Amino acid sequence: MPVSSQIVNDIGLIVFSNPPLNPISATAGIPQGIAAELDALEAQPGVKAIVLASDGKMFSAGADISEFDRNAAEVGGPIRALIARLDACRLPLVAAIQGSALGGGLEVALGCDYRVAAKDARFALPEVSLGLIPGAGGTQRLPRLVGAVRGLEWIAAGRTISAAEALEAGLADALTGGDLRAEALAFAESLAAKGRRRPRDLPLNDEGLEEAIAALRARPQNPGLRPAVEAAIAAVAAGQGPDFDQALAEEYRLFDALLVSEPARALRYAFGAERAVARVPGLDPALSAAPIARVAVIGAGTMGIGISLAIVQAGLQARVIDLKPEALERARAQSEATILRNRDRGRVSEAAAAAQIAALSYSSDFADIKGHDLVIEAVFEEMSVKEQVFKTLDRLADPGTILASNTSTLDVDQIAAFTARPEDVVGLHFFSPANLMKLLEVVRGAKTSAQTLATVMGFARQIRKVGVVAGVCDGFIGNRMFEEYLRQAYLLLEEGALPAQVDGAMERWGMAMGPLRTMDLAGQDIGWNIRKRRAIEQPDRPYSRIPDLICEKGWFGQKTGRGYYIYEGAGAKPQTDPEVEAMILAESARLGLTRREISDEEIVERCLYALTNEGARILEEGIAARPLDIDTVWMNGYGFPRFRGGPMFYADRVGLPQVAARMGQFAEGHHGWAWEVAPLILRLTAEGRGFAALNEASK
Ligand code: NAD
Repeated sequence: MPVSSQIVNDIGLIVFSNPPLNPISATAGIPQGIAAELDALEAQPGVKAIVLASDGKMFSAGADISEFDRNAAEVGGPIRALIARLDACRLPLVAAIQGSALGGGLEVALGCDYRVAAKDARFALPEVSLGLIPGAGGTQRLPRLVGAVRGLEWIAAGRTISAAEALEAGLADALTGGDLRAEALAFAESLAAKGRRRPRDLPLNDEGLEEAIAALRARPQNPGLRPAVEAAIAAVAAGQGPDFDQALAEEYRLFDALLVSEPARALRYAFGAERAVARVPGLDPALSAAPIARVAVIGAGTMGIGISLAIVQAGLQARVIDLKPEALERARAQSEATILRNRDRGRVSEAAAAAQIAALSYSSDFADIKGHDLVIEAVFEEMSVKEQVFKTLDRLADPGTILASNTSTLDVDQIAAFTARPEDVVGLHFFSPANLMKLLEVVRGAKTSAQTLATVMGFARQIRKVGVVAGVCDGFIGNRMFEEYLRQAYLLLEEGALPAQVDGAMERWGMAMGPLRTMDLAGQDIGWNIRKRRAIEQPDRPYSRIPDLICEKGWFGQKTGRGYYIYEGAGAKPQTDPEVEAMILAESARLGLTRREISDEEIVERCLYALTNEGARILEEGIAARPLDIDTVWMNGYGFPRFRGGPMFYADRVGLPQVAARMGQFAEGHHGWAWEVAPLILRLTAEGRGFAALNEASK
């Protein structure tokens, strides 16, 4: 039974269990079960108070998000009904909280009179991060316990509250380092005679609320979360009225409306997709990842430094190997400086910083790769250099050591063929800066073994990255799509737009950074090299010459102080460059193009649908297993807004027939050849389906 009860010294004890996270799931019968046990205990004459507890490490992670795509009444109903039942109980109620009490789980605890918590417990109402607000009384009961200002701040930021802070604020009533259940029972016994103290009956301290609301509105806000923050403000403010139930009804109404809003749908999808990528289709889930403790990183350049930092920041050991002693010295200095800066900013403790520095070691001797579980190569992007390194690794690494390459563009199968153990070779494509970027493309070669794949996916989790499996192709998932996105950005310049308009349109739509500013940040020389190669490989897929003209001037972006924009000093804001604009105009004239007014809408559609179309090809070729893998890559590696859900999800929301029709119109325009609609999109459209169907089919 998921819910059971007993009586201990006249105190009723209800325990629910829905492992491992104890969601208050109606499908699992949790809210109904708790209500039924409450009925039974209340009917017993001798019972003086009731403790509500759960089994396992966590009190409750909240509602079951996978159930949120049902209709609003089904989503909110069961937890709300349970809390109404708690309100109606005649006996005092105490929640016993271990681990975390999140979202709907915390709301259930807020339906109790008191909360006794383990001293390492944590509390949060994180619904805003999913584009929602607490929808089972959280916006009403929490402010009555901790004050309206604090309650609103916690809800609007979805902040995690420590047990000590919860005690100080009045959210928790007692903390214990000992036997939580016994303490909660004793607490209930000591207060039983006082009768009920329902949070709903407490007065609301709303001092300073107006100012807090104004300050919250003035703060920079993720546009996708703004509707939820506004709803949180409205719900907490509704609590100032005289009628609790009316305020509660207002919260329910606001929650139910947000539930079906586009940002909330997308954020829910993003949340699910980022978990689903870890379940690789076709990979036996019973295959357990071999734990990785010691990693050798070959190459002490930009990527080697970032990768080794990510490794030690996750508590593993990293040994960096480079042939050049000066590169090793630079890497050591730069890594230590980063770790010490994190310490000085309070991001890591003194002890943790010291441990990270101690976990880094440096060597110029390849023989030192012995004794490592994983080797990650990050040397120059040249096949001859990779060949030399992988032949050496094959000779010197212990049997069973996984050999990974961080190559961005080279063929992982060819690299694997330099060794006599291609089953142990895999691509691990980190993004720069590798210590900060969440995305890790895990490139599965033709001969990569299932065990190797399972182990590196486990490694991705260990170092807190979002690992997404990709097949071997030029650019893998992310960069291959990025190329089509950039192609449209450049062509838009030729046809009539200017850099600030292209970037502005994409940023207003939600991208963290527009495409041209992104290239200025990354360094235009990288793209230039790729374009030179493409000009030979794909003469039938021409690029605009505009970025090459800028590169020929040596304007590579931020690092040279000039690119599409002028940058005056480190971290300076990009400024319009009249010379660049003149070059763009001259190029249009040279091509005989009459420049036209281009709408923001066209910019957004062209850049995004280019992503969707290439994404569809990537699916057809099996480079990505599911649309959700592609969306996760874009949300975690390219600043694609989570509240839009990724390029494949977004195209579904627009509607694939509409997307295909627009592509058809673009095909009539300048460089229309780039708009040949991917067969997969045509097929899905004809079948009346969307990309979502492919995610479902892979479950
Ligand atoms: P980098 O030039 O900054 O560093 C390369 C390092 O490798 C240098 O320190 C060099 O001394 C060392 N090296 C060269 N040959 C070696 C050898 N035979 N043995 C040992 N060390 C050797 O390059 P980077 O930007 O760090 O890129 C490294 C790899 O990561 C490339 O394959 C690149 O495509 C890939 N990558 C780069 C980025 C990026 O944004 N820079 C992003 C993803 C992947």
